[in-house]
Amino acid sequence: MNKVLFYQKGTPREQIDLWNVKLKKWYRNFNLVHLDDPTASEALIALLWKAPMEKISKLNNLKAIISLGQGVDHIINDINFSENMSVYRIVDPYMAKSMSHWVILSILNYIRDYEGYRKQQIKKIYKTKDNLDFTKIKVGIYGTGEIGKVVAKDLNSLGFNVLGWSRSKKKFSFFKSFFNKEGFNHMIANCDIHVCLLPLTNDTNKIFNKDVFSKMKNGVCFINAGRGQHVVENDLISFCGNKINLAILDVFEIEPLPKKHPFWKNKNIIIWPHVSAETNVETAAEQVAKAIKLIHSGKIPANKIDLNLGY
Ligand code: NAP
Repeated sequence: MNKVLFYQKGTPREQIDLWNVKLKKWYRNFNLVHLDDPTASEALIALLWKAPMEKISKLNNLKAIISLGQGVDHIINDINFSENMSVYRIVDPYMAKSMSHWVILSILNYIRDYEGYRKQQIKKIYKTKDNLDFTKIKVGIYGTGEIGKVVAKDLNSLGFNVLGWSRSKKKFSFFKSFFNKEGFNHMIANCDIHVCLLPLTNDTNKIFNKDVFSKMKNGVCFINAGRGQHVVENDLISFCGNKINLAILDVFEIEPLPKKHPFWKNKNIIIWPHVSAETNVETAAEQVAKAIKLIHSGKIPANKIDLNLGY
């Protein structure tokens, strides 16, 4: 029986049993084995989330890797694979919607000053605050792929003015498309709320740095649910409280965020523990199982990563 390797960091080993049950609903012709299993090296396919890639790269029979999340930086960024290796990822509408909920939650909390009213309640203060006109708020989405375009569409349906940045120009009615350096600079200078939903690649690493923050309008909100490495964290800190009114962060350079990290105590930063859009085994298992089946029959599944572009 074909072996399929499994490793998902941060979840108990029993998680393999859950995936096994869910995958077998769709395709049964394989045995799921954990990376620690002595027969793991026989596997042709690996299902991975934040695995020890040094170890994975030594498995000579491996021909395909399927990411158990939508990002693949945890697989491809630190390893040079042979030309024969193919990398695929999950693209799950559930995750895109989940991200959309989180971004909307963050933006609505911000513009309605949810935290401010909660603080007033503690002091029994019954007082209105200025309301922002949401039709005048420009929201910039950086990365309008499978996740970003859903977020853009939902924000547009709530009445926001949405701008989106990507590598290629898009033609959607629900956001104004920008691309290249010029388009990026335009969004940085004009948006009131900036939302990073980019993949982490050589081109996007440290893309939000002091040069970029300094060109933003005064008093913006910066939201990052892409990857921690998109942001130069020391630069962000130095702009929080002046240019940046509030930073809402779901991802960090080092995760879990170290206890001594200055973000914890910064009143202009809200911290989330990488939960904005988690993989849902219920909804993801079907496509993972079908991808395994296609690879076993010598075919190419959907959502193949371009290793040159890095996403
Ligand atoms: P995707 O479908 O691959 O979309 C990526 C988008 O980024 C595309 O619009 C792409 O442009 C754009 N892009 C890539 N490189 C660019 C560059 N150099 N310049 C300008 N635009 C560039 O990815 P996705 O599925 O939407 O996921 C995006 C990222 O979200 C993931 O990689 C991951 O880092 C993050 N994520 C986070 C969580 C969480 O819980 N925090 C959960 C899921 C995903 P084109 O459209 O022109 O190709």
